[in-house]
Amino acid sequence: MKYPVYTKDMKATHTILVPNMLPVHFRLIIEILRQDGYNVELIETTHRGIVDEGLRSVHNDTCYPALLVIGQLLDALKSGKYDPHRTVLMISQTGGGCRASNYIHLLRKALAKSEFSYVPVVSLNFTGMEESEFKLTIPLLIKASFAIMFGDLLMHIANQCRPYELEKGATDAVVDKWVDRLGKQFRGGGFLSVAANYRGILNDFAAIERVNIKKPRVGIVGEIYVKYAPLGNNNLEQFLLDEGTEPVVPGLLDFCLYCANNSGMDRKLYGRKGVKSNGGRLAYRYLLMRQRQLISKIKKHGVFDPPCDFEHLKEVSADIIGQGVKMGEGWLLTAEMCDLVDSGIRNVICTQPFGCLPNHIVAKGMTRAVKEKYPQANIVSIDYDPGATRINQENRIKLMLAMARQAEKAEQPVADGHPHIPAPNTAELVPSTDAAPDSREEKAAVEVR
Ligand code: SF4
Repeated sequence: MKYPVYTKDMKATHTILVPNMLPVHFRLIIEILRQDGYNVELIETTHRGIVDEGLRSVHNDTCYPALLVIGQLLDALKSGKYDPHRTVLMISQTGGGCRASNYIHLLRKALAKSEFSYVPVVSLNFTGMEESEFKLTIPLLIKASFAIMFGDLLMHIANQCRPYELEKGATDAVVDKWVDRLGKQFRGGGFLSVAANYRGILNDFAAIERVNIKKPRVGIVGEIYVKYAPLGNNNLEQFLLDEGTEPVVPGLLDFCLYCANNSGMDRKLYGRKGVKSNGGRLAYRYLLMRQRQLISKIKKHGVFDPPCDFEHLKEVSADIIGQGVKMGEGWLLTAEMCDLVDSGIRNVICTQPFGCLPNHIVAKGMTRAVKEKYPQANIVSIDYDPGATRINQENRIKLMLAMARQAEKAEQPVADGHPHIPAPNTAELVPSTDAAPDSREEKAAVEVR
């Protein structure tokens, strides 16, 4: 099929629409692209019409993240806010074996169906999958790697402050201040003063007045889009905050390290050599060095918990899953579950999109092995699907939290000075096993039975 391609003169005339996945990181990355001369807009819409647009535009067998991203882009084009003749859509291609590499073709098909076949689509990939005149230059890539590190730090520490802030919105104000400040620093070389920026960020978060209690911590793992995007997971982080817990979300740097590590695995397992393999090795060393620098600065500051070292992630699950399992989030997803439980965060929500075979295997499929290794683990797998009701998802999480609170209460002596957060009345909740079929897969299973 012939399709329009992005050309460099479009830089001056066209708006590039980018679907949001990680609210903090993407704001930084968009700013870097704008400074490079691109007219870029982050789409942050979250209304139900996006799902309906996705359902109309792609086959109903398509994985939920693809359905949402395509639905969101088409919804933006039809909104009247942009001139479709001067708009370009951007979508990522991971280069892995799962459908994330093929969304772009589904999007082009959907555009043709909606009579937008003239709208160019740009692929954001690091593996040379699609050629166009949109180039990720070395300076852009370096800045993007810093944006990911700063984004991880802001996300990680904000999650440790937000549940405890005395003044509502104080944490978000610090995040906004630093996104703005770092954005400006990307114009010059200020962002390279990593130590000073880390210190400034950590000091600002530490200065937020917080209540001196400890809430149950809940880890979020899963397929990358539904793990991070509020549109994909029905604003899961906010729901966990409203439920009186502290959400813990592994950073994007781990996913980048996982991708870089995969080229090393290809070399080891399949003898694949060449530029890609060497590039992967260099990227791995660089990113690991950056992650260790981040961890050591948080440790030295001494107020907040640092994220986990990627080499530890590799070790922690090595006895239950091999690193050759690298479709979708692959072994990383299992490793994140293990690491969270291993570091004391035994409550874990595994976000599971409909139609995602790779992550069903490494998430739901590995839960039993993780629980055998860590009997204290309290893991719940939540399906995200156009037909899944939010109330059903939330009731399953509430039930999991009720169990977490009961376990905590049973372990702590009442006179230890810690206030106990009362457990919700579980009788009001829909038990996960008796819950009405939620996802399309569960409904199909019921029909088969
Ligand atoms: S990992 Fe799963 S949900 Fe994500 S693109 Fe691949 S198949 Fe779809």
